[in-house]
Amino acid sequence: MLVAGNWKMFKGPRETTAFLEAFEPPAGVDIVLCPPFASLAAAVGRGVPVYAQNVHWAAEGAFTGEVSAAMLLELGVEGAIVGHSERRQYFGETDATVQQRCEAALAAGLSVIACVGETDAERDAGKTEAVLRRQVAAIPRHERLVIAYEPVWAIGTGKTATPDIAQEAHVVIKELHDTRVLYGGSVKPENAAELMARPAVDGALVGGASLEPGSFAAICRAAVA
Ligand code: PEP
Repeated sequence: MLVAGNWKMFKGPRETTAFLEAFEPPAGVDIVLCPPFASLAAAVGRGVPVYAQNVHWAAEGAFTGEVSAAMLLELGVEGAIVGHSERRQYFGETDATVQQRCEAALAAGLSVIACVGETDAERDAGKTEAVLRRQVAAIPRHERLVIAYEPVWAIGTGKTATPDIAQEAHVVIKELHDTRVLYGGSVKPENAAELMARPAVDGALVGGASLEPGSFAAICRAAVA
């Protein structure tokens, strides 16, 4: 099991240090924290592997606001999230750029959590499987890459997918891509065990509930159980 905490644009270096002083990770589960770029240095070297929330495909260049894989590695960062739905929704991320980011990150030696998932409208229109097929087709095969299934309608909304919905989507993804698949979308201490008990669910990508050390530790413990 792998449980990753995506802090999005929350916690500067001071709050990151305070979190790590309070966080008590259980044994028996792989845990990753994904702080914002500005807090990566504060998080590295504190006993929990650290991933960035994005990574650019170029080694360097005129790409204002972007960060390269080599820069992350130099900081001690071990991986990156790629293609989060908030990047796709608000920052023009496409399947093509997801592919480029994944390939560059893997080639440089980073691990990757590549995100896929349908919107509310796509699910209502019966297009979930087609969307997953299209998104997964852009994701490279690699031992250091895992996929996160994050239905957009469940992210930050409190509307968690039922374990059956998660299981069904994970099976579709695993038929297309031989990798671990994490579930993401309003995972909380109360629903984590039930979701991660489903056979095709290999862990969780957690947003809001990863911001508090006690609730994130509880979700990590649910992955062990
Ligand atoms: C996420 O940011 O990847 C996420 C799943 O957020 P939340 O847990 O808050 O829905």
